Amino acid sequence: MWSERQIAMLREMGIRLWPDTHQDKTCSPLPPSERGEGKAEALPGLDLSSPPPASVRAELVEAPAHPELVEGAELVEAPARGTRGDISRMDWGALREAVAACTACKLCESRRQTVFGVGNPHAHWMIVGEAPGEQEDIQGEPFVGKSGQLLDSMLRAIGLGRQASTDPARQVFIANTLKCRPPGNRNPEPEELARCEPFLIRQIELVQPKIILAMGRFAVQSLLRSNEPIGKLRGRVHRYHGVPLIVTYHPAYLLRNLEDKARAWDDLCLALETAEGLGPPR
Ligand code: URA
Repeated sequence: MWSERQIAMLREMGIRLWPDTHQDKTCSPLPPSERGEGKAEALPGLDLSSPPPASVRAELVEAPAHPELVEGAELVEAPARGTRGDISRMDWGALREAVAACTACKLCESRRQTVFGVGNPHAHWMIVGEAPGEQEDIQGEPFVGKSGQLLDSMLRAIGLGRQASTDPARQVFIANTLKCRPPGNRNPEPEELARCEPFLIRQIELVQPKIILAMGRFAVQSLLRSNEPIGKLRGRVHRYHGVPLIVTYHPAYLLRNLEDKARAWDDLCLALETAEGLGPPR
């Protein structure tokens, strides 16, 4: 059951808690017949001994390992040989420095600063967004503008937060597909995404999240190699190298499309159910 505070917060966000047809006001588990199964592929260092999620609403879908296998996906050249390999061995300090000094694409010319990511480096939850906007470019932290306020409210509503704490199960690490702001907040370009991708991959490897929430089209394209619309991918549990991944709308989209906030709330509930079915915290 949600606390009065959480319910008040959801109302503040404009989220209609449940459609009128729903009597049950909790993120209730589904019957086994609606649960799915999927195979897991090891992420380096990831403990795969945990049991599969206990309450998952739909089938688990494995992300293809290679972008060229995805019909319709745009292919771009990967970063220069060696770069990806170097990044894949970096610790947090080296990775942060490498991002700050990155000149792999033209966004380095227009950025004020890079936006590395924020949160508990051992968080059980990883949130992946698109790219820094103006406020993020100024402050150097992801999701600090209007969509960030909505994201924080959504996270608080399910008991999560970005500030470091002693309980990683209640913490998130937030990162973007791009670490630099595209001028005028234009969409990321395929080459920019490809050149920045090794940083995100390494962040995920270092955090070793129990669950990933992919917000919006570009996060989904990067992690699942899918060009399907969000509306078609949400509502089921995907896999990113064995880690359960939930697709949902980007907060900036939700600010413009209030009618989809209820669906985003359903996505959060699915993510919470999936995360809670993963067994004891590491
Ligand atoms: N939108 C994003 O996807 N990321 C941010 O950091 C800010 C806005």
